Amino acid sequence: MAIEVIKNKWKMSLGERLYITPIWAGMRVTLRHLFMKKSTIPYPEQKVEVSPRWRGRHVLKRNELGQERCVGCQMCELACPADAIYIEAAEVPAEKRHEHPTERYAKVYDIDMLRCIFCGMCEEACPEAAIFLTPYYEFVDDTREKLIYNKEMLTEKTGGPIWYKE
Ligand code: SF4
Ligand code: SF4
Repeated sequence: MAIEVIKNKWKMSLGERLYITPIWAGMRVTLRHLFMKKSTIPYPEQKVEVSPRWRGRHVLKRNELGQERCVGCQMCELACPADAIYIEAAEVPAEKRHEHPTERYAKVYDIDMLRCIFCGMCEEACPEAAIFLTPYYEFVDDTREKLIYNKEMLTEKTGGPIWYKE
């Protein structure tokens, strides 16, 4: 008797056995989304528009005379919470004096892009407004070594378009 009651309780109708209701509910969602505005884009053919405040790849700026703004003070290296910056400061050689506003410069300036968390602390810490994070986000490579950017890769080109748009 008890088994009969349970059997009747869980007896499925024809519609339930064919799963028509849940299939129709799923199809309704699919059809609705077919005509809605897409929330994805076909990247990389179409680029993502980011806010001007987006913190992406760094640039080391030059002043209005085309000289490197960075004076190798290492404040950015000290401020970096990810230990992503490596600087070797040195005295500017006599033959390069015209390229620098002061007597010291960053002989070596590396940023490990794989360590960087794009927090912007280096930009905040710089007393010379020499380093900025740009809205550029497209940088990938196939080895770790290639993602350690050196000073040449980071420094803005003289007189030309800003390096990251080349
Ligand atoms: S953005 Fe942040 S983590 Fe990246 S180099 Fe600058 S201070 Fe370091
Ligand atoms: S980028 Fe700025 S904070 Fe970093 S070493 Fe150069 S001058 Fe100093």
